[in-house]
Amino acid sequence: MILLDGKATALSIQNDLRLKIASSLANGFRPPGLVAVLVGEDPASHAYVRNKALACKNVGIYTEVQHEPGSIPEGQLIEIVQQHCERPEIDGIIVQLPLPKSIDPDNILNAILPTKDVDGFTVTNSGKLMLGMPTLAPATPLGIVRLLQHYQIATDGKHVVVVGRSRTVGTPVALILSQNSLYANATVTLCHSHTVDLRHYTQSADILIVAAGKHHLIAAADVKAGTVVIDVGIHAVSDSSKKMGFRYEGDVNFAEVAPLCSHITPVPGGVGPMTIAMLLSNTVDSYQHSLKQS
Ligand code: NAD
Repeated sequence: MILLDGKATALSIQNDLRLKIASSLANGFRPPGLVAVLVGEDPASHAYVRNKALACKNVGIYTEVQHEPGSIPEGQLIEIVQQHCERPEIDGIIVQLPLPKSIDPDNILNAILPTKDVDGFTVTNSGKLMLGMPTLAPATPLGIVRLLQHYQIATDGKHVVVVGRSRTVGTPVALILSQNSLYANATVTLCHSHTVDLRHYTQSADILIVAAGKHHLIAAADVKAGTVVIDVGIHAVSDSSKKMGFRYEGDVNFAEVAPLCSHITPVPGGVGPMTIAMLLSNTVDSYQHSLKQS
């Protein structure tokens, strides 16, 4: 069994980005810029934004975090996003999800200019992705594909089973891997909460991608020997032996499933770091596009 080391792969991607940015600065250009909009006090959202901002700083992306109270009216949040879109020194704008229930996330996300939508969540960029056009794609699916590429795991003609059809992970990764392009061309089955007999599908996967948000949904009996398993789920499980009082586990029961696999991602240290690396990569792509236009 080979462990798909997302942490090391992400570090090597970040090193490349750092060099790209340093060379651009040496040629007299401005640094790339990212604004993260954070609403409310959800501790997990604060931690995610902190990690993203730190990773940006480490590669040389100028970053601002705009924190607003959970009571902010939707119209005011839209205005904030639009104002950042007009700033020429800002290449990427992300809005940390989830937003408070009083705000429709679609209205906020679609206020982001598609060229600065480095999370790839706008209707325009989702549509381009569906049509196979070049675009800014969501970071987690991109991270999964980059990890498969990094380990030279062929997808062409393989049966990929995706568990979970969210807009941010399951649906876009299924789309990307089914397209007629390099590092895709898989036969994809997309399973979800209404799938009858999930095991029937997971057992026939060459590559199994699990993004259901259900702790240990996938056990040994769900996987055939030699499968490549990508575990997107993250769950904090209480553990008094840890300083923080918890540890992270995934949607896959790693201890049971890993011995059967040809390759598997750990949790933590698999898909998570790749997601951040792809957000930085999208920001640098958007930056380079902006420099070419100016
Ligand atoms: P979501 O809740 O938006 O979607 C979950 C999907 O799983 C739904 O489409 C649902 O139909 C499906 N599902 C739920 N139970 C199922 C079951 N028993 N059988 C089959 N399908 C089932 O979740 P999401 O945003 O896609 O996230 C999924 C998990 O991945 C969560 O644990 C989340 O925290 C994690 N996540 C991790 C990263 C990362 O960078 N590592 C990024 C995004 C999400």
